[in-house]
Amino acid sequence: MSGAVLGIESTAHTAAVGIVSPDGEIMADRKAIFAPEAGSGIHPREAANHHVVALPGLVREALADAQLAPSELALVAYARGPGLGPCLRTGATAARALAHAHGLPLLGVNHCVAHLEIGLLEGATDPVLLYLSGGNTQVIGYAHGRYRVFGETLDIGIGNMLDKFGREAGLGFPGGPKLEALAEGPELEPLPYSVKGMDMAFSGLLTAALRKLADGMPLPRLAFAIQETAFAMACEVAERALAHTGKTELVLGGGVACNARLREMASTMADARDVTCFAPAKALCVDNGVMIAWLGHVMHSGGYETGPADDKVDQRFRTDMAEVTWR
Ligand code: AMP
Ligand code: MG
Repeated sequence: MSGAVLGIESTAHTAAVGIVSPDGEIMADRKAIFAPEAGSGIHPREAANHHVVALPGLVREALADAQLAPSELALVAYARGPGLGPCLRTGATAARALAHAHGLPLLGVNHCVAHLEIGLLEGATDPVLLYLSGGNTQVIGYAHGRYRVFGETLDIGIGNMLDKFGREAGLGFPGGPKLEALAEGPELEPLPYSVKGMDMAFSGLLTAALRKLADGMPLPRLAFAIQETAFAMACEVAERALAHTGKTELVLGGGVACNARLREMASTMADARDVTCFAPAKALCVDNGVMIAWLGHVMHSGGYETGPADDKVDQRFRTDMAEVTWR
């Protein structure tokens, strides 16, 4: 028995398998990303079909990378939500098959909490997570037995907004990195800045940016304005969460956290508050199997008892639904 944990991620466009050792060594990190056809978004069924084909090979490759036989694993973890139903069921089926075939325990974990907990692997102890991805935009932190959502988007995810704008601008999918490459300042075109209490909204910004695009505004200038405005909103909410909770660590997570300008803005804010900013490697910011394996390990070794719910996916598995018994 090596005590290593294998984690399966399949909540949206990414099918991934990661393996971690009990002391946090990353032994494998394999991914396959579903790319929708030009001009269209992610169709859940098509993404799930992609994962059906990809997952068996990813499991084999990850085990080979880690030089482990399945029977040497201590646990199989998978993301049981939140996410797209067909995609979740595919990952769960793969995890169940692997666990049952080799007599291993099976544990379903929360995808958003996994993004936070990977920050602990990076050295954080009790951080606020600024989680910016395609479908999710949340500011999360642990308080009184649960991971609390301090603020979140009221409409679309920040990455979704970048991707929709990118698609309309003919940039292809995903739009986020393409807009990052195009963005050119310093002239800041005003766009709707929507922070309501601790929550954010991005659809007004998207509509206004699309209107300016149709009116002929150059793409680099618009890309710059979109980034500055949307990232400032996210950093404002994260800063207020830090101020309210008194926490002294900020962790960045989600695909949008790969963005250099976002990282710069977040670390500038953190420095000004004497907060340590952890920006994990890009491979660990995007959806990945390592964070699922790591959270599985943390829960399992923290005495979490697997139950019937761990064998069932939940599309609307909110961050604050899980009672945290392992911290
Ligand atoms: P995730 O859902 O966490 O896997 O992240 C996917 C999202 O991250 C997509 O919306 C991408 O457009 C976005 N993304 C990836 N890289 C970047 C980047 N460098 N800048 C902005 N957004 C990005
Ligand atoms: Mg994610």
